[in-house]
Amino acid sequence: MGKRKTSNMKDLYTFIESILGPTGREVFKVLANSTKELLDDEIVKKTGLDEQDVRKTLYELHNIGLVTYKKMRNPEDSRYIYYWRVDAIRLNHVLLQRKKAVLNKLKERLEYEKNNTFFKCPIDGVRLTYDEALENDFKCPRCGAELEMEDNSEVVRKLETLIKELEEEVKREEKLISHG
Ligand SMILES: [Zn+2]
Repeated sequence: MGKRKTSNMKDLYTFIESILGPTGREVFKVLANSTKELLDDEIVKKTGLDEQDVRKTLYELHNIGLVTYKKMRNPEDSRYIYYWRVDAIRLNHVLLQRKKAVLNKLKERLEYEKNNTFFKCPIDGVRLTYDEALENDFKCPRCGAELEMEDNSEVVRKLETLIKELEEEVKREEKLISHG
């Protein structure tokens, strides 16, 4: 996992927590930080979470393709034991897809900023497009103050910088993934 940037991992932890809750986050974190495959019991110990919850979460993480396992027979009682690890290849794909989705959102936002003129209330910051402001006679719909035209060139510039950086990141990672 050393090659991945910390910010990406934080983002991923948040993403996992949003779909699998804090248990999902903790279980995944333990696997992501482990240099070797881990048994269910080891994950239970490391997280201090309920055994049933950990097992359930492991299968859920497996279902969304973020972790994988190796199944072996325990020589003592010949029952199956599972060795879990993060599916690094799949993980890179998931991260890249998420990054692309963010990129598209930013591009849409940029177009919206470029194609509209905005008006802002100097009192409470309500922001309207030209059409919306026109409908309201250039008065704030909340407090009635006179709206002021907003210079959004700074917002546009920031979005453009962000998009450029993210585009380069996506290109770099696509190259890495396609070269194995
Ligand atoms: Zn106002």
